Amino acid sequence: MSQIPERILVQAHLAAQQPRLLSPEQEAQLRHEIAQELARQKAVLVAHYYTDPVIQALAEQTGGCVADSLEMARFGKNHKASTLLVAGVRFMGETAKILSPEKRILMPTLEATCSLDLGCPVDEFSAFCDQHPDRTVVVYANTSAAVKARADWVVTSSCAVEVVESLMDNGEKIIWAPDQHLGRYVQRETGADMLLWDSACIVHEEFKAKQLADMKALYPEAAVLVHPESPESIIELADAVGSTSQLIKAAQTLPNPLFIVATDRGIFYKMQQLCPNKQFIEAPTAGQGATCRSCAHCPWMAMNTLESVLQTLRTGQNEVFVDPALIPRAIKPLQRMLNFTQSARLKLAGNA
Ligand code: SF4
Repeated sequence: MSQIPERILVQAHLAAQQPRLLSPEQEAQLRHEIAQELARQKAVLVAHYYTDPVIQALAEQTGGCVADSLEMARFGKNHKASTLLVAGVRFMGETAKILSPEKRILMPTLEATCSLDLGCPVDEFSAFCDQHPDRTVVVYANTSAAVKARADWVVTSSCAVEVVESLMDNGEKIIWAPDQHLGRYVQRETGADMLLWDSACIVHEEFKAKQLADMKALYPEAAVLVHPESPESIIELADAVGSTSQLIKAAQTLPNPLFIVATDRGIFYKMQQLCPNKQFIEAPTAGQGATCRSCAHCPWMAMNTLESVLQTLRTGQNEVFVDPALIPRAIKPLQRMLNFTQSARLKLAGNA
């Protein structure tokens, strides 16, 4: 088969994404009602890049924010609203509550979890840390409040390399949890002495190297953007590796007209908004060759819908609570991360 028909097949597949269940009128009505409720309750919508584009757009239109988990945390903490409606997964709501215990934190659903959080139960993790008392405990933001309370540092993928580098410069050895692929990536980038927990993200772990190489061959003009929660074999094929914000930045700065993106497809909303003349396609996750089915979407992020946002606002259900005994311990490693990234930013601004 020549390359052109195969490319057409890929495009046809990508165009055939799940049909929307709401009519445009129903969607507009829901958006209108949510905006009214947010204003009436002086609440603000804080959405992750992986949520449905319609929720991301609504967050922007109503004065909220669309961001990665680090910026969601910072925005929620600094915003004057007394109610934060966090569209994402549970650890994001918990992080907001830990940083702003005085605020009411709502989520469209409390069932939206994360395979990394599930893969790191606090009892087992704590026992592991106890076996290595000489090591600094660094955990990814995708963890429960109890795991954060056991940690010395919390990091997100946008600051993990820099934080670990600075700990290594202080001569510290590290326990890293829970994402093994991100941990290995940080280890390779920094050379730090790290013991890794062995969880993984069920979305990023599905990207397939052979199929990605086939897709690269089919689209030689494309750059490959990869989130470091992906396996090493995928990272090796990347033109840029980084957090969601860093990948969005790469899409803006790299000259390529086309990008193959190995992370949740919810990110396309922001990429397309900032780069209207560029094209984005999902990295393959299953199937044969470059026409494989791509389904890079987190099932828990997908639980955030317009209907559940409105229902939550109307009923006040799905409020996030964190054990008050954990908050003073969990806030310390989170605050360290916020302070670290803030001072890194100021340094950068000073050097500019
Ligand atoms: S995409 Fe992966 S890391 Fe992100 S919330 Fe879903 S399961 Fe967790």
